[in-house]
Amino acid sequence: MVSRRDFLQQGASLCALGAVGAPLVASAQTTDLSPPPDLFDAQLLDIDFWLKPRTLSLVRPASGERANVLYWKDGEVIDSAYQELCHILRDVNGRETAPIDPKLLEMLWGTQAFIARYGMNQPLEILSGYRTEASNKRLIEEGIPAARKSLHMLGKAADIRIGSLSEEVLGGLIRSFRQGGVGYYYRNGPKGGWIHADTGLQRTWKG
Ligand SMILES: [Zn+2]
Repeated sequence: MVSRRDFLQQGASLCALGAVGAPLVASAQTTDLSPPPDLFDAQLLDIDFWLKPRTLSLVRPASGERANVLYWKDGEVIDSAYQELCHILRDVNGRETAPIDPKLLEMLWGTQAFIARYGMNQPLEILSGYRTEASNKRLIEEGIPAARKSLHMLGKAADIRIGSLSEEVLGGLIRSFRQGGVGYYYRNGPKGGWIHADTGLQRTWKG
């Protein structure tokens, strides 16, 4: 059994490691943000957090769309809002929309709402949501990382980034929800990499 204090201490040392090794935030203008140690652990969230109305703020760089959608309130998904989110998370290239796993939306919202508690209110960038089989196949042919049986094709995965959070911090937070798979895609460049989050088996990989 790990006590909360033990966990926080463990978290603090993780932060210290982060400060030396991989920076917690990629961009210079936000380096003064020092997330508290428990940034890594969504398990510390109390029930009140999960009972609040859920608004997802998303951007789709591929299409230039933005959406701010209240999709869950009083224990229920709001159907029209859910449809809107499915549309935002559609296959932009294949021009097809499919049902998105509500559990994935919950992970995305949880991530966004969690970091908002520390003053980070940036929208979540959706680089990829649902993918048709044809789109997924094309990515593989183009040498872009995509699994042959990708959960993107089932509406159970999204490739995301948020603000200037490093892959390490974002991936660590999503892992702490213990709801599925997390892939770390490190890339150099101004935008950095991304995190693949899915609602399949709990597993972690680097791509
Ligand atoms: Zn992915």
